Formats: sequence, structure tokens, C-alpha cells
Amino acid sequence: MFQTLKLPSPLKPLRQLAYNLKWSWTPSTQALFSHIDQDLWQTSRNNPVTVLLNASPKRLEELAQDTAFCQQVAREHESLQNYLQTQEGGLEGEAGQALEKNLAVLRERGPVAYFSAEFGLHESLPIYAGGLGVLAGDHTKSASDLNIPFVGIGLMYRSGYFEQTLDTEGQQHAEFPQRNFQEMCIQPVLNEKDQPLILDIPLPGRSLFFGIWKAQVGRSTLYLLDTQLDSNTDLDQALTSQLYGGDTSTRICQEMLLGVGGVRALQALHIEPSVYHLNEGHAAFVGVERARQMISAEPSLSFKDAITAITRSQVFTTHTPVPAGHDRFTVETIQEYMKVLFSEEQHKYFPDLIDMGLEYKDHMNSMFCMTVLALHTARACNGVSKIHGEVSRKMWQHLWPSKAVEEVPIGHITNGVHAATWTSQSFHDLFTQHIDRHWDRQLGNPEIWAKARKIPTEELWKARQTCKQELIDFARYRIQLQRKKRNEPADALAEVEGFLNPDALTIGFARRFAPYKRATLILSDPERLAAILNHPEKPVQILFAGKAHPHNREGQALLQKIYQYSRMPEFSGKIIWLENYDMAVGRHLVKGVDVWLNNPTPPQEASGTSGQKVGLNGGLNCSILDGWWDEGYTKESNGWAIGEGQLFDQKDQQNQHDANSLYTLLETKITPLFYDRDEQGIPQGWLNYSRSAMESLIAPFNTHRMVCDYLNDIYLG
Ligand SMILES: *Cc1c(COP(=O)(O)O)cnc(C)c1O
Repeated sequence: MFQTLKLPSPLKPLRQLAYNLKWSWTPSTQALFSHIDQDLWQTSRNNPVTVLLNASPKRLEELAQDTAFCQQVAREHESLQNYLQTQEGGLEGEAGQALEKNLAVLRERGPVAYFSAEFGLHESLPIYAGGLGVLAGDHTKSASDLNIPFVGIGLMYRSGYFEQTLDTEGQQHAEFPQRNFQEMCIQPVLNEKDQPLILDIPLPGRSLFFGIWKAQVGRSTLYLLDTQLDSNTDLDQALTSQLYGGDTSTRICQEMLLGVGGVRALQALHIEPSVYHLNEGHAAFVGVERARQMISAEPSLSFKDAITAITRSQVFTTHTPVPAGHDRFTVETIQEYMKVLFSEEQHKYFPDLIDMGLEYKDHMNSMFCMTVLALHTARACNGVSKIHGEVSRKMWQHLWPSKAVEEVPIGHITNGVHAATWTSQSFHDLFTQHIDRHWDRQLGNPEIWAKARKIPTEELWKARQTCKQELIDFARYRIQLQRKKRNEPADALAEVEGFLNPDALTIGFARRFAPYKRATLILSDPERLAAILNHPEKPVQILFAGKAHPHNREGQALLQKIYQYSRMPEFSGKIIWLENYDMAVGRHLVKGVDVWLNNPTPPQEASGTSGQKVGLNGGLNCSILDGWWDEGYTKESNGWAIGEGQLFDQKDQQNQHDANSLYTLLETKITPLFYDRDEQGIPQGWLNYSRSAMESLIAPFNTHRMVCDYLNDIYLG
């Protein structure tokens, strides 16, 4: 049932290279696969497994005779082997010594099991929707680099999140292509008889069967559960079809699978975690299943003691203050699902169980909230930035009525990004030469980043220009594809060649189109915007990308508005819409833009991470003082603060204030600085901001630092 790869002998190591997602942050390995077949590489979304399975035997034979290529294969393979085998912790200096100590303790205790409904590792494994997933992916990669014993548990969605196209009116259409798992960077988990391992969980009226796929992410392993099995009904097979699709019933089944099924999968694999990390509330049934097993075992624990016991090894990260981010079910629904999970004799515990998830204890009709359940079954809880920690303590204070708001047990660990994934080749080279030969092994060391001050002007400017040109080429290529798909006329295709000016100040805005992110804020005053974009000496251009959830009409209307602006004569070629935002689009944007724009309604942005990716590539942030940027921003030095942190009760007032602030920044600070050139045409002042951004932002805002914080403060806590 599983396609075998037949490779000529010298190319055999390509198999292991392809099936370990380490390639996704190793450009030299990616180069091997794109060299095999450039077209296949592109059309497969840079998927090495697809390339190997579909490359012509003739081409492979030819490469098997190519000594230089074979030597490169051997080198990449050896380098992967070394990476996998080393016992060291992946950091140098003092941070490295602290890490080694912590690792020794964790290895004694057992691995971290990290549960997440989405993982964003690479565009060829589309099981993520946005920031939450990309954060989980970056966490997994850093855990691997740092050598933390780590397994991830998620779901293997057949269609993933949707694929976006826009019609000529700018109306969003969602497509759900079925992926061929045989061509993806995953392999089935087999039992002793070499047959796929199949497990099950009880759901009302039936058993839900599931198989497990394994994705190797460097040294970390991801286990992805899949219900598409003949033994399930069609409806149950579809449970792992879409991420965030279906209705409430789909959602609770998915969460039963992730939580209850996830715990059973770990047991079947003989993995005994010392920490269960719930990334968002989706997996909160983990605690219920673990407690159930303890009260069912001999000798058995009481329900309360079982909850106390499992809480000792559970930790929880909450990711958003926005209500839609917290799953709620009616008490009846929960009872219906718990009835089949617990034996009849154990139903007497239901009042206690329900109590743990009730959002408002005294309300007759209170819903059961997965976040509340997670908060009540974790020994440590955290938000994802300093402000988000405060906002979360306020938001959930009512669960601890006897505590003052500062005592609510939710702390914070600010999010970061995986540097090797998000740094362009040009900046990687600059860092290697001017910061440290092993800069990525000292990411959190402010001393090495102080050297960013000394990066020579010409080199820095050249690297910025290269990144921007790569983005422009990519954008033109993608827009032409989009237009071809819509059968647009030849002149509409030809026109794209003139889109985007490599010398113009380039702004990027890309994210999920949730209304609180205020994607259209910059369109509030079209005339003022047109004057900024079409300035005769100081032109500005903006690239937009993002998906609105198919049920979210408001988000789709915002997106449509931007698309329609992009087709108006005064904005054509200046406001650019890039379809189907994914990690590939994201990567190009964060590497190539001069300014990253982020203007959600404060204080609703939990952290935001895209701006951190921009910082790794010498780009600058112009953002609301919320989430990570409130911690990263220094005035007149490394970027700009929209609205200066002022909060208004009235939404309209907030929007007006922030829009005005944004325009004023663009008119009086950002464009003047970008276009203030010396005699060589280089913007010295701008590059000083860029150096300052690298100096101040890279060390604190990366996932190596973040995962070390989790290890130190939470996993070993
Ligand atoms: C980094 C990233 C995000 C996170 O976006 P923020 O709005 O900064 O939180 C979302 N989607 C993709 C594809 C990303 O690469």
C-alpha cells in the first residue's frame, strides 16, 4: 500500500533526507531536490517526497552518474546524521551550559508531549491555518535544534485549511483539495506485524478508529492522527478532512480524537511523557482521559485525586483573547460524549467533571469551555506576551473569585520565531560573516547581536535589495498565475510585468482576515492613501495576503474591498493582492518587505510573530503597541508605534485615532527616512534603524529563547 522509492544506489541517502523535515530549514538540502527537477519542485510546493516519487528514472540515472551531485548528497546526508546523533544541546556559551543542565533533568524524567490542533512546518504539509500552527511548528523545530526530548501530537487533515482563490469581483472561494498522503513527508506508524497501527476511541453510538502518521522534524517526532479508514462511517472519515471545518459536532469529535486519541496513541507507542503541553484549549480532553484511566486502574484513585495527579504533569498555553478562539459546548453535549467514555459506575463523577469546564459556575446556562477545562487541569498556564498575560488574567479572573487579578495563575512567555526557517540566504550570509560563524547557536546572546551595528552599509543595502527583488519576482509570478486561472485577457497578464517598483518603499500586510486585525484600516481615507502611494519622488507600495474563514462574511468583505482597490486605476500595481496566503507567501513577504504593518484593535493581538520574522531580515515594523511589539519597540530607533498605545472605549474612535496615526507616520517619518539618501543613493538613517532592529529584536524574539523559557520555567517547574 505504500509506494516504495526506487533510487539508484548513490542517490539512496536522498530518501532519508526527504523524509526528515530538517530539509525545511536547511537550504542546501532543498537545493538538491530542486536540482533534481525544478518544475516538479515548484509545482509540488517544494515537496522533496513528490520530487523523488515523480522524477523520471532517466533523470535519476543521469544524476547517479554526476559525481559532484552524488558528493553533495553524501555531504548533506552526513550532516543530517551528525545532527541527529549529537548529544549536545544546540546552544553555545552560558545559555548552552544552562540548557545542558536542564536537558539532563528532562531526559531522566521523560519527553515533552505537545498537543496542537495545527502545526505549520512547511507549505507542503498544509495542516495549519495561521499563527497558532506556525508557532507550534517553530516550537517543534527549536525543540529539535535544542535537543529537547519532544513529540508533537496533532491531526492529519486530508484537505487541511482551505485553498483560496478570488474571482474577478474579489469574492473569496474556498477549495478543499484532497491530498495524496503517499506523496507527503509522512510515513504510517506500523504495528509488530508491519500493518498500520489502528486504535480507537468511543464516541456516542460507535467507535472511532484512527491510524497514525509520523512526520520526522529533525530530532522531534510528530504523530498525526487520521480517521480516514474503511472501518469508519463516511462522516467519521471526514473528521480529519478539514482544519476548523464542519460544525460543533465535528469540532467536539476532533477534540475527542486529539485529546483522548492522542493519549492512547502515546501509550500504544510506549511513550511516557513527563509533561503534557496543551497548545490552546483544543486538546483539553487529554486531562479527562488521563484521569479516567487513573480511576479505572487497580488500585484506583478518586476522581479528585486523579485530577490532582494529572494536573502535576500538564501545562497549558492560551493564545488569544478573542472569543472565537475558545471552544464552547453545551453541558448536554459534554455529557453525551463523556457517557460513552466513562463506565456507568463512573458517571457519578460528572458533576465534578462538568464543574471543571463551566465558564460561569452560577449561571444555569453556562457553557462548558475547553479553555476553562485546560486552565483547571494544568499546573502552569501562560499567555504569549506580557500584555496578553495581563489580558488573560483579567479575562479569567472570575474563575478564581478569591484571588486578586495579579494572583490569577496565568503567566506569560512571549512568542518567538524559528530563525533558520525565516532568515533569508542573504541575511544568513551577512550574519555568518559579521555576527558570528554560528550565530544560530547563540541566538539569545545580546553581545553577538550588538555587532549588527557594524554590518557595512553597502552589504546591508545590497542584501535588502536582493530580498526585495526576490519578493517582487515571486509576487509577479504569482499574480500572473492568479490572472491566468481567472482567464483574464493578455493585456491583464502583460501588465503584471510592470507591477511593483524595486526602488519603492514596500509595505507588507498578511494575516488571517479576522475582523479585529483591521486589514482595511489603511484604506480609511482613500485620497490620503493615494497621495502617499503615488508620491512622485517617494512612491510607496503595499502587498496584502490573507484568508478569511469560509464562515466569516465580515472577513471576506474586508478582503474583497482590498482586492477591489488593487484593481482601481489609482492603486493598480501599488496595492497588490497575493492569493492563498501560506508559509511560502509568508516567507517571501517577511524577507522582502521594508516595513511590516500590523494594526489589530488593541489589546486583542496576543503576540503576533510575523514582525519578528521581518526583523531577522533587516526589515522594520510599524505596529500597534500590543503583543510582542510592546516589548520590542524602542522609540526613534527600531521601528514605529501606531497610536502610541492609546486605548479608546469606542471602536470608531480607536479606528480613527489609529488610522490617522498610521498616515501621519507614513507621511512624516517612514517615507522621509526611507528616501533620505546619501550621494551613493543609500538611505543611511534607514539602515541604522535596520541595524538597531536586528540588534534589539533577534535575541529576545526567537523560538530558541522561547523554548528555553518553557523548559526552564514550565516543563521543569
Ligand atoms: C508567521 C505566520 C503567521 C503569524 O501571523 P501573525 O499575524 O504575525 O500572528 C500566520 N501565517 C503564516 C503563514 C505565517 O508564516
